[in-house]
Formats: sequence, structure tokens, C-alpha cells
Amino acid sequence: MLNIVIFGAPGSGKGTESELIIKEYGVDHISTGDVLRSEIKNETELGKIAKDYIDKGQLVPDDLIVNMLAKVLDGKKNSKGVIFDGFPRTIPQAKALKEMLNKRGTDVSVMLDLKVDEDELIRRLLERGKISGRSDDNLDTIKSRLDVYYKQTAPLADYYISEGKHVAIKGVGAIEEIFGRVKDAINAVK
Ligand code: AMP
Repeated sequence: MLNIVIFGAPGSGKGTESELIIKEYGVDHISTGDVLRSEIKNETELGKIAKDYIDKGQLVPDDLIVNMLAKVLDGKKNSKGVIFDGFPRTIPQAKALKEMLNKRGTDVSVMLDLKVDEDELIRRLLERGKISGRSDDNLDTIKSRLDVYYKQTAPLADYYISEGKHVAIKGVGAIEEIFGRVKDAINAVK
């Protein structure tokens, strides 16, 4: 199985590059942010809990996210691969993902770390906020999300470096140009 973790700060282009990867490699997509937004829309118990965290730009607790992901993964048993978008975001989540995949006889193939500087991230997220309708694409929440990213999520790069799975990708330039770099990294592990 081709299991790709697409990683980077909010606004680094994870969603955009995921769409291109799915078209090119026929893998399934799991975006924990999308799953949470759908839980909120459907007014589930999990959705009600998650909304407060999301609106503050904070991370939803690991146990809730890991249980949610396990269920989504179980629904994709015959998949030729999965792209994990927005997950893992903490070391315990990365360890839980490894365990879940190992139990299914597979592992993370590669972690793609999209590198974009902070001014560009803020510019992109404010631009997206004009059309996304996302409650968290406003300047205050963007600042909290970036803070959370640098403190809690960015250290995951070291975890994947120690696993030998980390590839840094320059995340600025034309979308196709970035995708060229992404494909080189994926083809090297395929
Ligand atoms: P995203 O769409 O990936 O930017 O996620 C939007 C928000 O959902 C984040 O700011 C978090 O509040 C929450 N979220 C999404 N994925 C995770 C995760 N793996 N762990 C914790 N919280 C998450």
C-alpha cells in the first residue's frame, strides 16, 4: 500500500496537492479536518465537542481523533493506498497511525513536508477565507492555528526523519511545479 502523510502548516497547500496526488496515483483521501467539519454539519456528539476546539484554532484531543481515524480507515480496507491530510498532528497521533497501519500489515511510505514561509501562509489563508466559509479562516484564528502548528505539530518532522520517511518539499511556486517535486518524492518510494 502507498500510504502518504501530507504535512505542513495551515495554508501550505496540503489539500491542493492531495487532489493532484489522488488523480495521479488513485489513492484514497482522509482529511481529518473534512471529517470533523462533516461531523459538525451533522450535529453529532463528536461534532459538538470538536467545534469549540476548531473555532479557537486548537487541536481536538488525540483520543477523539485517533478513534475517528480508525473508523474511517476500517471503511477503506480494499484501498491501494491512502493520503493522510491533516493527520497526524502530534507525536501520539503519529505513533497511533504507525500502530494502526502495522496492524493492517502496512506502514507510512513517505511523509511530504510542504515548506512555506509564514507571511505567505497568512496571505493564502486570508484569501481562502473570502470564499471557504470556514469559521477558522479569520486572522485571529489563523494566528492561533499557526502557533499550534509551530509548537505541537512541526516537531513531528523530527519523528519522521528518525523513521527515514521525511521529505521536505518547497511549497511555493506554480501548483504544477510543486506537484513535480511531490511526484519525484512519491516515485522514489513506490
Ligand atoms: P484542517 O482542515 O486540517 O486545517 O483542520 C481544521 C481544524 O480541525 C484544526 O485547526 C483542528 O482544530 C482540527 N483538526 C483537524 N485535524 C486534526 C488532528 N489530526 N488533530 C487534532 N485536531 C485536528
